[in-house]
Amino acid sequence: MTVTIADYLRQDKLPHLWCGGCSHGVVLGAVARALAGLGITTDKTVITTGIGCFGKADDYFATHALHGTHGRALAFASGIKAVGPDLTVLALMGDGDAATIGGNHLIHAARRNMDITAIVSNNSNYGMTGGQCSATTPIDKKTSTSQYGNPEPSFDLCSLVLGAGGGFVARTTPFHVRAMEKLITAAISYRGFSFVEIVSCCPTYYGRYNREGDAAAMVSAIKERAVNKDKFYQLPPEEQQGYFPIGVLHSEEKIDFNTRYQKIQQKAQEALRKSSGGTA
Ligand code: SF4
Repeated sequence: MTVTIADYLRQDKLPHLWCGGCSHGVVLGAVARALAGLGITTDKTVITTGIGCFGKADDYFATHALHGTHGRALAFASGIKAVGPDLTVLALMGDGDAATIGGNHLIHAARRNMDITAIVSNNSNYGMTGGQCSATTPIDKKTSTSQYGNPEPSFDLCSLVLGAGGGFVARTTPFHVRAMEKLITAAISYRGFSFVEIVSCCPTYYGRYNREGDAAAMVSAIKERAVNKDKFYQLPPEEQQGYFPIGVLHSEEKIDFNTRYQKIQQKAQEALRKSSGGTA
């Protein structure tokens, strides 16, 4: 059965509500193309979201979906995958959802190695609620809640997920559209917790507060700071400042949660059978 992007996107819901130049639409298209390219049918796909501009992404997918509370997209995804191991489960989040309110769920989903694909469109602020500071707002940058500069250092999300045990970690930008689709395809194909960060832009709030110009200028500036990971890691630390690596940053085979849990279930059933004298 051939699956196309048209099967994945709900034409009756388009055009989407995101501002002109927002990166979220680019990410939405890449996710839809990746899923269709893999030939996964919509009835076998579940998309979970929380709150925030990118939390509206599930509205546009003709898949199963669960739109829940702020920061809980990965908690919902974990429960769904635990009871539906054959489903393809994606959590689509912004940085507020994934790393700020939902930071705890992010590290534990990575640690558990649930077979979920987490996609974070990281635009360094809470867009939907008015451009507030998030855990990925760079230090000294302005937001609606840090008018004179953010006093806090930001999370490097890929390093955070790697440190928590994530088996597949990748990063890209809205400029690298084809690479984004390939990375998302690889992440969905990976068995275990896969994480893709898209360093995005919110021209309406973050860009305006920091006088970074329009969306084209912001994407161009992001592109200038993105360096292929092989080249990036060869640079001395002082030359890495102000830049970030893109591509697959880490990929290793690990036993996923469902495989381990299935073995534990078998052991428990065997113990029960023995304790009941073989009648259970
Ligand atoms: Fe995108 Fe920012 Fe507009 Fe939200 S407020 S849709 S994140 S540009």
